[in-house]
Amino acid sequence: MGVCEASHMSTQTSGSSGPAIDSANSLVSGDVRRHNLGIVASYLVSNGPSSRSQIADGTGLTRGAVTALAKLLTDAGVLRATETVADGGKGRPLTLLELAAADIAILALQLDADQATALLVSLAGDTLFRFAEHHGRPMGDPEPVLDVLARVLDRALAAAAGAGRRIADLTVVVFAPVGGDPAQVIADTDLAWGTVDVLGGLGKRVPGMPDIARLSADAPVAALAEHSRLTGVGDMLYLKSNSGIGGAMIVDGRLVEGAHGLAGAFGHLPVDHDGAQCPCGQRGCLVTVAGPDVVLEAAGLGGELEKNGLTSALAELTRRIASADEQATAAWEEAAIWVARTLHILTMSLDPQVVMLGGYWAGLTGPVRKAFAGNRPIIAGTQPWDEPEIVSGQLGDDAALLGAVWAARDRLLQDPLHMNT
Ligand SMILES: [Zn+2]
Repeated sequence: MGVCEASHMSTQTSGSSGPAIDSANSLVSGDVRRHNLGIVASYLVSNGPSSRSQIADGTGLTRGAVTALAKLLTDAGVLRATETVADGGKGRPLTLLELAAADIAILALQLDADQATALLVSLAGDTLFRFAEHHGRPMGDPEPVLDVLARVLDRALAAAAGAGRRIADLTVVVFAPVGGDPAQVIADTDLAWGTVDVLGGLGKRVPGMPDIARLSADAPVAALAEHSRLTGVGDMLYLKSNSGIGGAMIVDGRLVEGAHGLAGAFGHLPVDHDGAQCPCGQRGCLVTVAGPDVVLEAAGLGGELEKNGLTSALAELTRRIASADEQATAAWEEAAIWVARTLHILTMSLDPQVVMLGGYWAGLTGPVRKAFAGNRPIIAGTQPWDEPEIVSGQLGDDAALLGAVWAARDRLLQDPLHMNT
């Protein structure tokens, strides 16, 4: 898998010519030292075992700084000298350094409309364990769904323990908006939930759950993961649909979270005036006119949804549209008008360079592009108006899971001395 892609680390290492210091023990602020420790650790995740001079050349830190920082990391058990190789025939042996993160692991859990999934990875991104269990989608009843999620968590914790690894970071990703403090699910339209305290429910069921758990909506972490693979894009609007409809805004390379962590919950933009009631309390939300259940029903795939679950039904929908099935195509084109209308509002609000469609929408951008282009403003009489590009997400159904473990790795590397504690 692509967890150790260097591209994701570029946000961390690209600024690495920043505050270089001559000695990690000098009178530099803790923040600068932590920043530089993170640069060294990130470099090693991206590049594998490296010599001190390779690290210095690759990060812009001075050789003396790298030596001092490496000593701090080695003393803390985060780094170890691995092998000695000949230095290009110069006869002088070269010591390589690598991260000694063999006793920690990153865990992400994902809850979607069909199943609960656990992904356990090493700091370098290798998959250690992956497990999923279907929950059968009992609508409006969180308890049996949390039972399944708890079982999946139990299995992952047992796998980590069996591998002798401590969970250094745990994220629970839900395909629904998340807000509040402590963070809770707000209106999961796929499961007909109102407000649900997922972490509280898990903690009650799994006494051994690490107390570091965080809850995240799927779209923001998926958007960050997708955005990290683009170059030169500062402002990006992201909309995805697998279960429900989620979204995120990235401005100047940063996620906009909002006062309640709800920024980007575009599935609940009330685009259809006086439309159908949504579980969030509003009427006419985007999800009520373009959500997966609505599209599947209109495409004649309600029975498939009932029988084989959402993932399978959406795969069938995509197949039918690809083979020009009339009913499926019409259902998607109708929904695409609502998606485009939402994009008209959002692009005038944010003025992004790129609009990215993820989830099953990634393969169906054509009708959205067409509907979007049909109603664009003329700014100051100039044509052509430089429209945002509508592109497809590249990470598929794993975008949110990958985003969660990549974000976790960034957090750990930002404060590497505490990684092993
Ligand atoms: Zn709503």
